[in-house]
This record gives sequence, structure tokens and C-alpha cells, in this order.
Amino acid sequence: MDAALDGEIKRLTALGLHRRCVEGGLARTAALTLEINRLKAEKNAVICAHVYQTPEIILGIGDLTGDSYKLAADCRTTAADSIIFCGVHFMAETAKILNPSKKVYVPSKNAGCSLSEAVTAADVRGLKAAHPGLPVVTYINTSAEVKAESDCIVTSANAEKILRRLYEKHDRLIFIPDRFMGANLAATLGKTPGKDIILWHGTCVVHEKFDPALIAVYRRRYPGLVALAHAECPAELISAVDFMGGTGDMMRYVAGTNAAAYLLVTECGFGELAALKFPEKNFIAMCRLCPYMKSITLGSVLALLKDPSPEEVTVPPGIAARAKTAIEKMFELAA
Ligand code: SF4
Repeated sequence: MDAALDGEIKRLTALGLHRRCVEGGLARTAALTLEINRLKAEKNAVICAHVYQTPEIILGIGDLTGDSYKLAADCRTTAADSIIFCGVHFMAETAKILNPSKKVYVPSKNAGCSLSEAVTAADVRGLKAAHPGLPVVTYINTSAEVKAESDCIVTSANAEKILRRLYEKHDRLIFIPDRFMGANLAATLGKTPGKDIILWHGTCVVHEKFDPALIAVYRRRYPGLVALAHAECPAELISAVDFMGGTGDMMRYVAGTNAAAYLLVTECGFGELAALKFPEKNFIAMCRLCPYMKSITLGSVLALLKDPSPEEVTVPPGIAARAKTAIEKMFELAA
């Protein structure tokens, strides 16, 4: 066997990827990661990989990895000429807004997001007209045009903290587009939806469908189980679990505790990553695949590196400047 391929197989094995069942086996995966990492270095590109990607993307080729907040923060300091975003389109737009001089690419034409598609800039202008003077707080899962109409962006990692700070100055605010996350935040902060916090009707197609009744079933089957759910889940589900947060919060919770078993209620890639990071812990899968995130594969990343031109992400400068102000407000308030 080729020595470079043999070395790559050993590297992936040390990362635990030999335990994954992937098409073509580990040798096929290693051939792809080897070629991607070679081309990436040759083109001075950096790969951002969100935690909902597959472990072979996150661990095999990712340079910057994490949740939306961490990726947005970390990509600001990259010295690479281009950013390949293994995540969804709004994340790549955010990277472009924060790094206007760099070329940014997404290796899939289908990497959308149901939340991002649930609200338009015209919708936000309508909300502002209906509720004049209220600050617009916008989840990062939105288009650049929607961000440009907003006062402050939040992620699941910092939404509670930023809302607390904004409520020090405002009695009411608008939160878009995730109605479940908005309602969960309202419950945490003791606010009333429709009165203190104006919500929109967006939902995540992955997190809206988990069945709360199953949590009790899992608890009976696995004594000592701790259930963690993403803040995009409906309130009935959240009330049945032990911990609600973003994926970064969930990973820190798992790292800092020693439960008999963990039920991770979110996208499947996160559970796969957690199992690889903590092989000594017991994870129970109650997960769903995000079709947008999973439209990216090692093959599509390699195809992009060979011919990036069709997948470049652009944001009109006027939109980018206004969106950047709202994103920078997030970094300021989350600090
Ligand atoms: S998991 Fe939900 S919020 Fe995240 S990208 Fe997929 S559809 Fe959007």
C-alpha cells in the first residue's frame, strides 16, 4: 500500500474513525481525506466544519470546528486565502461578511436551512413597522438580508446572555425566526411570548419533530440517564429533559459530568462526535439527520477544491456592512 495512504489510515484510526461505518470503508475515506488535505494546503484554504457534519469531515479534514458561534468567531482570524464552509449557507454568508477579502465556498447547492428560509427581510421590516422602536434580535440561522435588518444576532450559545443584557434596557423585543427557541428563552427569562417577546413562526425541521413521550421511555430503559436537548426543540420536549442548550453547551455538559448514559436530542452528527470524543461514556441515540447539513460529503468537498467557481458565496457590500454591525453587536454583548 502507498505509504502516504497507510499513514492517513493510521491517523484516522487514531481519531477513532475506524469504528465508523462509512461507504467504501476506512481506506476509501483515507484516500479522500488525504487528497482533500493535500489540495487544501496547496490552495491555502481553511475548512470550517460544523458539529452536525459527519465525523470524517469534522475530524478528517476540519481545521476550525464547533458550533455556529465558535466558527463565526474563529474564522475572523484565519490567514487562509479562502474558507470552505462545511455547514449550511447562512454560516458561509456569516463567514463572508466577517471576512470580505476572502473567497468563501459551500460544497453543496442544497445546504439551506428551514429556519433561514422561514423569514425574509421584508418580513422583518413588517415586524418593525408593527412594533416600532423594539430591538430586533435575530438567531444566526438567517440570511444576510435578514441580518441586515436586525439590531443584534445571537446563537444558541449566547442567546440567553444577550437577551438578559438587552432586557436591562428594553421592556420588550422582537426575536426571530425560531418560535420554539424564542418560547424556551422566554420561559427561562420569565417573559411572556406576545407581550414581552414578539416571536416569528420559524422552526427547525430537525428539532421540531422529537417526541417528548420517548424521554420517559428512555429513562425507564436506562436508569441514571441524563437527557440533553437543543434549544430549538419545542417546550414540551425541553420540559422533559435535564439540560437545554446549544451544541457547545451540551458538549461541555457531557465533558464535565459522569452519568450512566446520555441521551442527546439533536442532529445525529453531534452524537457521533460526542461518542468519538468520549469513548468511555454511554450515548443513546435519539437523533435526526439534517438533510441540509448532510448534503455535504467528502466527495463534494473534493469536487469543490478541484473546481470552486460554481459554489462561491457572495454578499452585496451594502447588505454585508449592515449585517456585520448586527453580528459585531453579538460579539460585544456575548463578551
Ligand atoms: S439542524 Fe435545523 S437549524 Fe440546523 S441547519 Fe438543519 S434545518 Fe437548519
